[in-house]
Amino acid sequence: MILEQERIQIVEYGKKLITSGLTKGTGGNLSIYNRERKLMAISPSGLDYFETAPEDVVIMDLEGNIVDGSRKPSSEFALHSIFYKNRSDIDAVIHTHSVFSTVLATLREGLPASSYLVAYSGMDVRCAEYASFGSSELADNAYEAMKDRYAVFLANHGLVAGALDLPNAFNIAEEIEHCAEIYYRARSIGKPMILDEDEMRKMIKKFQTYGQVK
Ligand SMILES: [Zn+2]
Repeated sequence: MILEQERIQIVEYGKKLITSGLTKGTGGNLSIYNRERKLMAISPSGLDYFETAPEDVVIMDLEGNIVDGSRKPSSEFALHSIFYKNRSDIDAVIHTHSVFSTVLATLREGLPASSYLVAYSGMDVRCAEYASFGSSELADNAYEAMKDRYAVFLANHGLVAGALDLPNAFNIAEEIEHCAEIYYRARSIGKPMILDEDEMRKMIKKFQTYGQVK
């Protein structure tokens, strides 16, 4: 089975998307890019995460051709491949319908630096312009709005996070959703204080050497 390790990890983290509450039902999708083989492993379309086996994961090239797999790939494959085509610092992408990120995205708002943890994304999280799900326009808009960042909101839709590997992409999605929830709660009772650019630059630097993150 080609890209077996990638397939196994996609099955594992698909389940984590549900158990962590980051997405519901069959919402969201995830992929890993094998840069040596120039192939991506992506979750299948509309299949329950707990029913998905490694052989259900679809292997595609970045032009959208299926290389291996009998399932239909996630309808958002363009949203994944655009990052692998254009960014060498992203080899894994997670897209979720996380509640608090989507609340902000429904207001067409990003997430300002309300917590130092926003540095997991970068200086902030922007909200991409609206486009229909599964469209190449959605991929373009997300890519644009994620420049110099590792997370982005999709207007009226959800969240995207990218990193060099899937555990880190998952971690970024979790942290940004957490920050979005705190920001939402703070806004509902007052005016959140936002960290200044100097502080955020320091945090981004610190995060590069913090903990187990590679
Ligand atoms: Zn979606």
